[in-house]
Amino acid sequence: MLYMTKIRIENAESGVVTDSKKPRFSFSLSSDKNSVRLVSYRITVLSAEETVWDSGERTDGKQISILYCGKALKPFADYKVIITATDNFGESAEGEAEFTTGRLDTPWQAKWITDTDDTAPEKSSPTPLLFKKTVTLRKSPVKASICATALGIYELRLNGERLGDRYFAPGFTSYLNQIQYDTYSAALFKGENTITAGVGAGWAVGAFTYTRTNKTYADVPSLLLELRVEYADGTIETIGTDETWLVSCEGRMRFADWYDGEVYDATVDESKIAFRPAEITAPRGNPKILAAYGSPVRVRERFEPVNVTRAPSGELVYDFGQNFAGVIYAEIDGRRGQTITFRHAEVLEGGELFTKPLRTAKAQAVYICADGEQIYSPTMTYMGFRYVGVSGIDEDKLKLSALALSSDVAETGYFRCSDERLNQLQHNIRWGGLSNFVDIPTDCPQRDERMGWTGDIAVFAQTAAFNFDMSRFLEKWLVDLQSEQDESGALPMTCPKAEDNWKKRATGCWGDSCVLVPWAEYLARGDEELLRRAYPMMKKFLALAEKRASMLSIGRHKRIWSLPFQFGDWCAPDEDFMQWIMKGKWVATAYFANSCRIVSEIAGILGESADAEYYKRLYDEISGTYMTLLCNKNGRLKKEFQTAYVLPLYFGMAKDKKRDYMAKRLAEMVESAGFHPRTGFPGTPYLLFALSDNGEEHTAFRTLTDEGCPGWLYAVRAGATTIWERWDALRPDGTVNTGEKGGDGGMVSFNHYANGAVGDFLYRRIAGIDPTSGGYKTFRVSPIVGGGIISAEAGTVTPYGKVSAAWRIDGGEFALTISVPVSTSCTVKMPSGKTMIYESGSYTLREPYPGGNGNG
Ligand code: BGC
Repeated sequence: MLYMTKIRIENAESGVVTDSKKPRFSFSLSSDKNSVRLVSYRITVLSAEETVWDSGERTDGKQISILYCGKALKPFADYKVIITATDNFGESAEGEAEFTTGRLDTPWQAKWITDTDDTAPEKSSPTPLLFKKTVTLRKSPVKASICATALGIYELRLNGERLGDRYFAPGFTSYLNQIQYDTYSAALFKGENTITAGVGAGWAVGAFTYTRTNKTYADVPSLLLELRVEYADGTIETIGTDETWLVSCEGRMRFADWYDGEVYDATVDESKIAFRPAEITAPRGNPKILAAYGSPVRVRERFEPVNVTRAPSGELVYDFGQNFAGVIYAEIDGRRGQTITFRHAEVLEGGELFTKPLRTAKAQAVYICADGEQIYSPTMTYMGFRYVGVSGIDEDKLKLSALALSSDVAETGYFRCSDERLNQLQHNIRWGGLSNFVDIPTDCPQRDERMGWTGDIAVFAQTAAFNFDMSRFLEKWLVDLQSEQDESGALPMTCPKAEDNWKKRATGCWGDSCVLVPWAEYLARGDEELLRRAYPMMKKFLALAEKRASMLSIGRHKRIWSLPFQFGDWCAPDEDFMQWIMKGKWVATAYFANSCRIVSEIAGILGESADAEYYKRLYDEISGTYMTLLCNKNGRLKKEFQTAYVLPLYFGMAKDKKRDYMAKRLAEMVESAGFHPRTGFPGTPYLLFALSDNGEEHTAFRTLTDEGCPGWLYAVRAGATTIWERWDALRPDGTVNTGEKGGDGGMVSFNHYANGAVGDFLYRRIAGIDPTSGGYKTFRVSPIVGGGIISAEAGTVTPYGKVSAAWRIDGGEFALTISVPVSTSCTVKMPSGKTMIYESGSYTLREPYPGGNGNG
């Protein structure tokens, strides 16, 4: 039997609301037979009245991102999608899904409203606004919905009931270019209905970025909302925000700010506060307002404290056993006016919360109680923490838990093996990811940043896309990145770009995010449309890189890129900022070559053959120059450091004898460093590949499994539950390495995902699952054995279905079980070198393994 297992529309499950005029459809199949392939499919799309698209029988073999090509879709309409598929055994399967269109091009009758007096104090956020409108309906509606958005973050209530379960709507986008709106179905009744919207400062208006000035997007929070009511006789009534709405800044939410937290006063009676008519405003720029197309932030998990202690200062300290991004959830037995303060931190020092790494962020929630039992949980801020310090209440009057928040990216991947320490590392990688997927990919969730630093996601995207379905999350961010690119090809360092000190420019690794992120996502999900959209951005960036590389140079030198600024080997251990950036030349040149290689491949996929050739030639030239100008004739670098060997090895720039020399030299350097990485963000993800793919598996495994500092298992041994920004964030003597110089608060976070990019090595080399074309249409399973590991397994949900590999060494035998989804094929390479190709199905392969338990 053939089964239709999943239909996705715009990379979301059934029920999505979209403003896309050509929604993309994807489907996956399963079968109880082996070697099954899709032969033909047909898609029909129906509205309530008619068939709006019939694709006819298609035999192009596509299952991913098939573009709707039917009649123009109508706004606010429900559509049904029916897909039938037939396989190479003549069996058929059928599935259905639904989607709803958003406003499409329907103009808003509503106007943006605000209170222009509500400006922010210096380096802080304005008071949250409370908007209100009572709507009177003469008869009961058959259907009603609300479209809403804000500059700031909002939460809606209808007749006192909260609408939706999303946090921080409308999410963070490049607001001058695009803003998302959400659609809520509204249960209205005849007579009076009250809509209220709290709008806090959020990213658009709040004291966002470490400069804590934010004049980029708006000066005051504002709201845009439209209620659409349908009656039984087919008439439609639209009620939008305008000057008849009321606004107040005296609501219970007294203060909300990403870094400093919240102040919530439950004694305020919102029916008695002073309201005044709202003022009309307009957003800056001319942003498109689009149905939400990212992954909304929701509650991911709830944590109960694992320990409660009393700090020497007297503060109650709750330990949640896990570092994460989220908020407290406090069940309180209080008395009117009692003030409770909740402080947050990632680590303790001497039994007290250690908050220095938060720099200027106060990261506290202050709650003023009403009488009796009540619940408080912040909704307009979040913190990165494991520990909460509480004052102002006795322990027996408080039941404290915590909610981990993250963008709603589905869990797709897993990795487990016989070494528990590596399983903990995988756990830390997963939480490092989740904590930093808060509407945008952030650098960290706790200190006064939480910004979309491009370099961090550039190196982590591939690991992220194995563990989670990142499609909508990353696509949304890429829309922002593309819209932020200026005419010269320059990109911001943080995206969306808010006020900070960094100019838009081309930089190695950070800028290469415009290539590396779509490429990682494409390998995982196979959506060519994503590549097609991002392609002009990639080309513009590479053109600028090419220009910058040749800025002051001629001849071969013009392929060596260092100017005008590079982050270099950012966060390499035992070095400072200046030393990192002084390594910019090697990092930028190698990343430049690598992006040319990838863009050449992308050009091939998109049928741009002249471009494919151009970028291939450029890649060869840059690689050749790196190998001749920066190395001697054997391949030895004139200035040696680990990252400068790792990159040309992993990016395929070093060939033949020079490659062998480089690999040997890198292994020697790693060994003489005591089997420790000495790499920064740009080199760390690829260190183990550079070794193991070039005959130095032993060194790769020794380095991975060493528990000393710097190293991945150092943090694991120290009890880490996430990935640290600095290898030695917590020094062996228990003190925190803030990297501080002269009272600047330094730079250390215990929740930065970049070094967790080693996850890619766990999946692609230890479990051995490696995509060889987009979406795992073809993939390889080729595990490498070492480090004393005797069994490992991993899997990921691809757009074709679940791919998995599990191996075990037992009784002198190596046994490997793989599963291969319908329409894909897998090349398996066993440790002996024996290679076979499998089409869909589950298979177990065995061979003698005299080598024992994999030490080596
Ligand atoms: C961030 C990093 C980022 C870097 C770039 C830091 O403050 O936390 O992760 O990539 O700045 O300079």
